[in-house]
Amino acid sequence: MKDCIFCKIAKKEIPTEDFIYEDKDFVAFLDIRPINPGHILVIPKEHYENLFAMPEELVSKYILLIKKLAPKIKEALNARWINLLVFGEEIKHAHIHIIPRFDNDDFQEPKQGEYKDGEMKEIVKKIKQFF
Ligand code: ZN
Repeated sequence: MKDCIFCKIAKKEIPTEDFIYEDKDFVAFLDIRPINPGHILVIPKEHYENLFAMPEELVSKYILLIKKLAPKIKEALNARWINLLVFGEEIKHAHIHIIPRFDNDDFQEPKQGEYKDGEMKEIVKKIKQFF
């Protein structure tokens, strides 16, 4: 897709650091605005607006690739844990963040709220109507 920054990165039209990983369908590279050092983006080479727009077979490969990459990144960077994030809003080209976590890092944990009485039941009911 024209003017898509991730398409340009995948086609190497934008100078980037070496890909951490590349195969026929995917590339992985460092996010230039890392939440933590070693923050990696994994994207399909072909343009899909988000994960939900991808063919199922490719999504399977995508998740299996993440499963392969994340432990290696953890080990390589001596991270305590790996976070996977899918926001999908900022750039309209499917991408999964692999974020290594370290002791005492600055990663802001999202604030966890609470449900009011009956609210959980209500939400479960709403979602279940669609299955
Ligand atoms: Zn794209």
